[in-house]
Amino acid sequence: MKHDKVKSFHDLIEEVQSRGICGRCGGCVAFCSAGELHALRFGKDGVAEFANEDSCLKCGICYLVCPEIKVLDDELRKKFHWKKPIGFYRNLRSAKTTVQKVASEATDGGVVTSLLLYALEKNLIDGAVVSHRTGPFSRVPAVVTTAEEIIDAAGSHFDDVASLGKFGSSYTSFVPGIKELGKLRQRGLNKLAFIGTPCQVYSLRKMQALKVVPSDNIALVIGLFCMENFSFTKRARQKLGKNLGVNLDNVVKLNIKDDIIMTMSSGAVLHVPFEIMDEVARSACFACSDFANEYADISCGGLGSPDGYTTVMVRTSEGERLYNGARQKGFIKEMKFRKKEQSLLHRTTQMAKIVSFTRRKQERKKRVMRSL
Ligand SMILES: Cc1cc2nc3c(=O)[nH]c(=O)nc-3n(C[C@H](O)[C@H](O)[C@H](O)COP(=O)(O)OP(=O)(O)OC[C@H]3O[C@@H](n4cnc5c(N)ncnc54)[C@H](O)[C@@H]3O)c2cc1C
Ligand code: SF4
Ligand code: SF4
Ligand code: SF4
Repeated sequence: MKHDKVKSFHDLIEEVQSRGICGRCGGCVAFCSAGELHALRFGKDGVAEFANEDSCLKCGICYLVCPEIKVLDDELRKKFHWKKPIGFYRNLRSAKTTVQKVASEATDGGVVTSLLLYALEKNLIDGAVVSHRTGPFSRVPAVVTTAEEIIDAAGSHFDDVASLGKFGSSYTSFVPGIKELGKLRQRGLNKLAFIGTPCQVYSLRKMQALKVVPSDNIALVIGLFCMENFSFTKRARQKLGKNLGVNLDNVVKLNIKDDIIMTMSSGAVLHVPFEIMDEVARSACFACSDFANEYADISCGGLGSPDGYTTVMVRTSEGERLYNGARQKGFIKEMKFRKKEQSLLHRTTQMAKIVSFTRRKQERKKRVMRSL
C-alpha cells in the first residue's frame, strides 16, 4: 500500500461519521496507534474525534478496524469459508444449560454462560470479555475471570429503559465491548473469550487479521444474534412509553426473538413489533446486514427456539470443540425430539427464521444506504 493511499481518521469522519453510520463502538480510539500521544478521544455524546491531530501517525489502523469499513471482507470470508445467506456453519441446535443458577439468570437457555463456564473449568480460557450489569439493568463491558463473575454477567436484560448505559446526553443499549480489549494489555490475560454483537465480532476479526495487539489474546468468540440496538433521549423514551401505553420504568427484562419482548414488573409480557422500536434504534444499526454473527466461533440467539432454549450455530472447528465438550461434560443439553422428522422440521423452521431475519436486515441496509 502506498503511503499516500493510506486512509486514516479523516476518512472515517467523511465515510462513516458524517453519513450517520458511526456505531460509537470506540474501536478507532481504543486501537489508535498513537494512543499514548492522545491523537483521538471520545467527544460529546461518545463520538470519536481528534484530540491532537498532529500526533496522528497516518497508519490507517482506525480506518481498517472500523466495523463500517468493509475493506477486509474478502480476506475474512475466505478465512471463515463464508457462504450465502448466513455464513458457514457446521451445526444448528436448540440447547439449554443444566446449571439451575444460570437458567434463572439467563436471557434464553443460558448456553452462552455455560459454554464460558466449561471453557474456564477446562483452562481453555483465563476469562471472558462480557457485559456486566452495573445496576438492576444497566450494563457495561467487563473482563471476568471467575465462574461467579461469569454467572453474574448472564442475561441480556439490556434495556431497562430507566437505567440504560449513559451515552453522552442519550441512553443506549449498545455495550462497546471492543473498547475493553485495549485493557487486556495491562492485565496480562492471554486466552480470553469475547462475547459480542455482530458489529463487534466483525471489528475483532479484522483486528485479528491485521494482528493488532491484543486481539490475538482472544481464543474464542461467542457471537449474539442482533436485529438492532437502541439509543434514545429522555424525550424519545417518554414518547415510546406513550405509544406503547405502558410505563417503561416498569420493564424488568427485554429480549428479542420474533419481536421485542418486554416483561413488566407485574409479570405481564408485552410483544412489541420492530416497526415501533425502530423509532429509537441506533442509526448505525440500519446500515448493518449481519444478523446471525457470521464470523463468530459459535453464534447464539433466541430466535428459532422455544422459551428457555438458546439457538446455537456452531461455525468453526474451535466452536465445535467447545460445544461438543460442554455437551459431553453435561454443562448444556440439547432439545430432544421423539421422532427424527420432528427434529428435521424444527431445524428447517429455525433456519428459515434466521435467513428471513438476515434478509430483512440486508434489505433494510440497502434501503438506508441508497438514501445516504
Ligand atoms: C443487544 C442484543 C441484541 C440481541 N438481539 C437479538 C435478536 O434480535 N434476536 C435474537 O434471537 N437474539 C438476540 N440477542 C441474543 C439473545 O438476547 C441472547 O443473548 C442469546 O440468545 C443468548 O442467550 P443465553 O441465554 O444463551 O445467554 P446468557 O447465558 O444469558 O449469556 C448472555 C451473555 O451475553 C453477554 N451480553 C449481554 N448483553 C450484551 C451486550 N449488549 N453486548 C455484549 N454481550 C452482552 C452477557 O454478559 C452474557 O455473558 C441479542 C442480544 C443482545 C445483547
Ligand atoms: S495514528 Fe493511526 S489509528 Fe491513530 S488516528 Fe492516526 S491513522 Fe488512525
Ligand atoms: S463505528 Fe466505531 S470505529 Fe467506526 S468511527 Fe465509529 S467509533 Fe470509530
Ligand atoms: S444491528 Fe448491527 S450495528 Fe447494531 S448493534 Fe447489532 S450488530 Fe451492531
